[in-house]
Amino acid sequence: MGCTPCKLAKTPGGKAKAGTAGDDARPDLLEAIQEALRTLEADPLADDPRKRLEGAFVGDPNAALTALKKEAEKTAPAPAPPTTTNSLSISQADGDPDWVNCVGEQRCTPAKKLKPKTLADLVGLVNEARAAKQRVRAVGSGHAFADVARTDGAVLVNPVLLNDVRDVDRDRLRPAAQGLALVHVQAGITVRRFKEELDNRGLALINMGGYDGQTLAGTLSTGTHGSGVNYGPLASFARAIVLVAETGVVYQIEPADGVTDPAKFPGVVDGVPAVLKQDDAWYHAAQVAMGCLGVIYAYLFEVTPAFSIREQRTSTTWREVRKLLAPELWKPVPPAVAAVDHFELVLNPYNLLFRNACVKVERTRVGDAAASGARKDWLAALLEQASIHSAPDLVALLNRVPFLSPLVIDQAIMTLVYEGAYVDKSFNVFSLGAANEIKAMALELHCDAAQTVPVIDKLLDVFQREALRSLWYMAGPLGVRFVRASPAFLAPQAGRLTCTIELDMLVGVESGRELARRVKEAMCSADAASVRVHWGLDLDFVTAEDVRAWYPDFGRWHDVFRELNSTGMFNNKFTDRLGIST
Ligand SMILES: Cc1cc2nc3c(=O)[nH]c(=O)nc-3n(C[C@H](O)[C@H](O)[C@H](O)COP(=O)(O)OP(=O)(O)OC[C@H]3O[C@@H](n4cnc5c(N)ncnc54)[C@H](O)[C@@H]3O)c2cc1C
Repeated sequence: MGCTPCKLAKTPGGKAKAGTAGDDARPDLLEAIQEALRTLEADPLADDPRKRLEGAFVGDPNAALTALKKEAEKTAPAPAPPTTTNSLSISQADGDPDWVNCVGEQRCTPAKKLKPKTLADLVGLVNEARAAKQRVRAVGSGHAFADVARTDGAVLVNPVLLNDVRDVDRDRLRPAAQGLALVHVQAGITVRRFKEELDNRGLALINMGGYDGQTLAGTLSTGTHGSGVNYGPLASFARAIVLVAETGVVYQIEPADGVTDPAKFPGVVDGVPAVLKQDDAWYHAAQVAMGCLGVIYAYLFEVTPAFSIREQRTSTTWREVRKLLAPELWKPVPPAVAAVDHFELVLNPYNLLFRNACVKVERTRVGDAAASGARKDWLAALLEQASIHSAPDLVALLNRVPFLSPLVIDQAIMTLVYEGAYVDKSFNVFSLGAANEIKAMALELHCDAAQTVPVIDKLLDVFQREALRSLWYMAGPLGVRFVRASPAFLAPQAGRLTCTIELDMLVGVESGRELARRVKEAMCSADAASVRVHWGLDLDFVTAEDVRAWYPDFGRWHDVFRELNSTGMFNNKFTDRLGIST
């Protein structure tokens, strides 16, 4: 099958190519590298072993990887993160009184956990909770690295059984909506199952993020996005949001010029009385609402005929790429970005050999082109290359010798580059696959796209400073994407074409979270031009002051929130953090 990722492509710095770590490296070289690692473990600031290690990775990556493998074998694996499974595919055991997110960082003890099967069930449980003065919180797959789903003592609604997809009744649509490809989809479906159901019908999601384990309502609710200057966050494709309010009333919420013809709305959704609410403020508030306005039951969701994508990856450096993204080129979009449908970067936050290594990822929609080629993700490729058997082994090694982070990131992102192109069904290209099952967390910054270069320059300085000052290193590359502006009041992409910068960190690497906190503090300010943070990837750092300063329409969102959460039914730890609990 077509091209496969080369073992290690030629790097921008002209490094030697490397294969998989083997035992054929010269013993004296191996010993020298291991010695350098041990010296750095004892004295992390020692300059000479740093240079030797850098030299080893440049001159003989095979020997460096073999040395890593040998050291990893000697290092006790990092303790397992505080959760019950080995992957991100968590199952919330019915017998377990607690709810926990996918990396075990968020845990709560609800009053009860329920899995409604129908809209009538959902209305019933909300009515019961209201009578008992209990709070209610819907959860998705628990893949937010934040307290957005966390609610002690509440009725926890897991809509996992609400996962049906069906055709819409086109007779009820306005003439202007007749040309749209729309489906009726229930909120608890996972993105994975949704894309499969669509594929079976010759349809596809218009866009998606790099992962598909989340629920549809979970992704939309936090402003989850894919990439592409012509594509907003996933919430942009929800043409109607069917939600159960604190009163037990079912609302079908659409913009004022929504897809449904009010004269033809039957006043019922799936056998339950429902109100059609065509109101811009309600709609833009409900698109991204972190579960605070009610329990979402279903969407009328815009999709598209199935399509393929061609992906090309090129090895480059930040110095080269920043020329393509300079602020003056955003009029409205630089040619390099406009030339493809999805322009992304994977960037080493650390400067080695006088450059920040970078991989440019360019994706183009190519109709129904046949699949060809394949690709790997950075972490799986790195583990395989270094013959390190599991992420915990790598984590333990990085904790022993933090300075290895920049080196292994450098090595790892070079494994992303392959000759030729990878073509596949859209969702196979969008999804990063196995890498998503590794326990990693992320903080994601969102800035005005025109400010990409100054923001990333500043961010790289922060990383360099913290590495020197505290010996804190981010254990993963930066993922850079561009997303269309969103009218949703609290979408992190609200009102501006956005550059998103994801800071990945392996769970278990000591200081990862504190480093992320310093990054947030250094990068964000208390004004509307500030860098914002993704609600699902904010590690609980966003404050009450931030949300008021960053979002011009926060007041309008808050008005809807007060109206739909008048009893405080949807209060939780997140609303406490934002100072909005009623
Ligand atoms: C491996 C991985 C990869 C990721 N990739 C991306 C990416 O490419 N792009 C990106 O933008 N983000 C990405 N994320 C972030 C992720 O998409 C968000 O955190 C998302 O919100 C998680 O969805 P979930 O189904 O797990 O919801 P949860 O984390 O369980 O809940 C999220 C929020 O949705 C609310 N909610 C859930 N269901 C309902 C409902 N039925 N009614 C009302 N409210 C509801 C919850 O109350 C909560 O506030 C990634 C996360 C992981 C772990």
